[in-house]
Amino acid sequence: MAFDLLKDDDLATCVHCGLCLDACPTFRVTGLETESPRGRIQLMTEWKRGSLPFTEEQARHIDLCLGCRTCEAVCPSGVPYGRIIEAGRADMERARRPATKRWLARTALRQLVSHPTRLRAFGAMTRMAQTVGVTGAVRSGRQLPRLRAPFRAPQGDVAPAIGERRHRVAFLVGCVMPILYPQSHEAAVRLLQLAGCEVWFPPGERCCGALLAHNGDLDGAALLRDANTSVYAGEQFDALVVDSAGCGAHLKDFYPELKGRVKDLTEWLAEVGLPPANNEVKLRVTYQDACHLAHAQRIRKQPRDLIRAMPGVELVEMRHPEICCGAAGLYSTLEPSMSARILKEKMDDMLGTRAEIVVTANPGCQMQLATGIRSRGSNMNVEHVAELLLRAYSAPSP
Ligand code: SF4
Ligand code: SF4
Repeated sequence: MAFDLLKDDDLATCVHCGLCLDACPTFRVTGLETESPRGRIQLMTEWKRGSLPFTEEQARHIDLCLGCRTCEAVCPSGVPYGRIIEAGRADMERARRPATKRWLARTALRQLVSHPTRLRAFGAMTRMAQTVGVTGAVRSGRQLPRLRAPFRAPQGDVAPAIGERRHRVAFLVGCVMPILYPQSHEAAVRLLQLAGCEVWFPPGERCCGALLAHNGDLDGAALLRDANTSVYAGEQFDALVVDSAGCGAHLKDFYPELKGRVKDLTEWLAEVGLPPANNEVKLRVTYQDACHLAHAQRIRKQPRDLIRAMPGVELVEMRHPEICCGAAGLYSTLEPSMSARILKEKMDDMLGTRAEIVVTANPGCQMQLATGIRSRGSNMNVEHVAELLLRAYSAPSP
């Protein structure tokens, strides 16, 4: 079996120093070398060399990696762990027999997130089930929020700037976010308008492919990238703004045509500036770093600066806000036991802040944190950072 997507040059950057071990959530809860970045890189290197045969038993160590890229952020040797794990997973999935749990997940993802009409139908059915009270089946285990009407782009696919138009941005609507968290998108778009941006919603834009790539389906992700690239081509915009950390990281890594033009919402707002707030928001808030924002995009300061600038808000930090919450896309569904162990550490840290609200920048993290909070019987709220920031503005008139 060839492991040809994995690159020798990438694997060779690891000097086995172990400085990443304490930052790795799976190592932190197991203490096992096999569940550490260094152990996983060693395993993939041996597969690549052919010095270890590929087995399902060994593959579990790769399955248990969250892909959170905390190791990459702390590695002094510049190991491109995100690229290594995506390539390793893609190689591994080709070596696997069909009908395994992972194979089924990959197939389901391709069939669902790549097709907006199917996804909308799924959302509508789930909403109906929640309305009539059949919530057990759709809410067990995972923590789907109560669904509202999905986010829709405005007529004409453009939302005008509020006040003087200073920028024109494209906005990634994406696949699951408009269904699960339409209020986050609504808040993000309103903030962009307040910041003087005309917001363009690219017609025909599809899922960015992040969920597929993170689950080892690089071919499926490439198909979506090619479709989206032709949608963006020829249109003028200053930035493609993204309010989901996983999508933003994927677009920055996987879409060379957009190089330098993809911006996380907080990154963009910090750059262009928001108007002065006109509401005092008396809240104690804590901020959870979404892994693909903090580690993959290295954006930690901008969201905190924006939150601290809100009159009345007190930002209280966790001891380890940068450690993954255990959501990691489909991870909490595919690996519920390890995910729950990681979430427990996060909950102890988060509830210790006695914050009224925790904010973050990724839908998977929002769901995971809400599950943890519910399981502890706490009444802490979870919001997207855009929703919190918008509280500083009282009903702006368009
Ligand atoms: S990934 Fe980086 S920090 Fe971790 S062992 Fe290898 S070189 Fe050291
Ligand atoms: S990506 Fe996260 S879970 Fe995977 S090895 Fe790195 S730190 Fe550990």
